[in-house]
Amino acid sequence: MQPTELTADCCIVGGGPAGLMLGYLLARSGLSVVVIEKHPDFLRDFRGDTIHPSTLEIMRHLGLLDELLTLPHQRAEKLQAEVAGQEITMADFSRLPVQCRFIAFMPQWEFLNFLASKAAAFPGFTLLQSTAFDDLIYAEGEVSGIKTLQGNDTRIIHTSLVIGADGRNSQVRAKAGLQSKSFGSSRDVLWFRLGKQGSDPKWGMGHKGPKQNFIVIDRGDYWQCGYTIQKGEFDALKLAGLETLKQAMAEVAPFSAERMADLDGWDKLKLLSIRIDRLDQWMKPGVLCIGDAAHAMSPIGGVGVNLAIQDAVAAANCLTLPLKKGHVTLRDLQKVQQRRQFPTVATQFLQIKMSSNKRKRTTPSKVPQMISRFPFLRHLFGRLIGLGFRTEKPEHLNE
Ligand SMILES: Cc1cc2nc3c(=O)[nH]c(=O)nc-3n(C[C@H](O)[C@H](O)[C@H](O)COP(=O)(O)OP(=O)(O)OC[C@H]3O[C@@H](n4cnc5c(N)ncnc54)[C@H](O)[C@@H]3O)c2cc1C
Repeated sequence: MQPTELTADCCIVGGGPAGLMLGYLLARSGLSVVVIEKHPDFLRDFRGDTIHPSTLEIMRHLGLLDELLTLPHQRAEKLQAEVAGQEITMADFSRLPVQCRFIAFMPQWEFLNFLASKAAAFPGFTLLQSTAFDDLIYAEGEVSGIKTLQGNDTRIIHTSLVIGADGRNSQVRAKAGLQSKSFGSSRDVLWFRLGKQGSDPKWGMGHKGPKQNFIVIDRGDYWQCGYTIQKGEFDALKLAGLETLKQAMAEVAPFSAERMADLDGWDKLKLLSIRIDRLDQWMKPGVLCIGDAAHAMSPIGGVGVNLAIQDAVAAANCLTLPLKKGHVTLRDLQKVQQRRQFPTVATQFLQIKMSSNKRKRTTPSKVPQMISRFPFLRHLFGRLIGLGFRTEKPEHLNE
């Protein structure tokens, strides 16, 4: 029988990249931390599987890099795209001032399992899976814990700090009444898998995307494919029929419509809604949101996971000492937002510019043309994608 009440220095809602990294860092500093995750495992919808040089550098500081890189992954030293029939290097990581000058493509569940297993080595760390956030609990006007649900069972977790790391549809931010600004998005993505065939190109198609509106990621024995569509277009595509969709995809994909035989029903396609938004205030007394819960990111540049991890490191840096003293003030929480506001705003600004709906599907973006004209730009993009606008280094590791 599970205890119906728990007490921890910090309770984190959401076992995604942000929540698990913060849980790991706080537990490593000797704090007690409970991470609750509504799913029973980390095998969830495709949400990107890029681990960028900035995150790999954090793993190096934590002494976890070598072991992480023993897990199956592919490396991309450059990101290439095919635009109007021309192959262009969009981002080059070869001059980054870090040890790993590549993106590691690793299924996100492998990365999350790895982080969770490393965190579990610390006595203060507890991960409660199949446990959903239900509500905030207040004492004297300040958040003093949460109520969780596991099936029909309710549990109370008492804590002086609740972290909302529960992603783009964050219930923590909704219950805390934190206001967000939406920046919309004109696109959605259709995700599906194609089994590999002997006749497929061997030239690392996985890192050649996005091929105009088509992305292909090498997942070992299958290709993870993504096809971007206009928001709201899905119902019309369904009416037109699967064969018409395959023909349209074949125009921009490295596969013919016939080669997409695996795609034999609409249940094989997943519609993933893209959204960009940001909270005005990431906190109120006793609660702080980080990662997508504070700022939902678009998949453009594949930077959301890495931004979420950087938020977690910044939160650990700012909050470890106050947590150890047993009192986290609103000012302490504001420091986290102040630290992460600029990189978030700047990254979202670029994502919004790059997904501008003024551009028609058939009109190539001007960005690749500029990059092919001015090659130094591919190093600049390599820096922005690989390291972002501000990197974070974990502190207080052995205090
Ligand atoms: C289609 C698509 C493709 C993307 N591709 C990439 C990419 O290639 N690279 C990249 O870096 N980023 C990518 N992103 C963005 C990336 O997915 C997010 O920015 C990143 O996952 C944010 O991490 P997070 O930890 O803040 O939130 P999440 O990864 O969303 O994790 C939140 C966690 O909270 C849990 N949770 C939610 N509600 C509750 C609740 N009520 N109770 C308990 N637990 C709860 C969820 O189950 C989840 O595990 C993509 C996004 C989309 C939509």
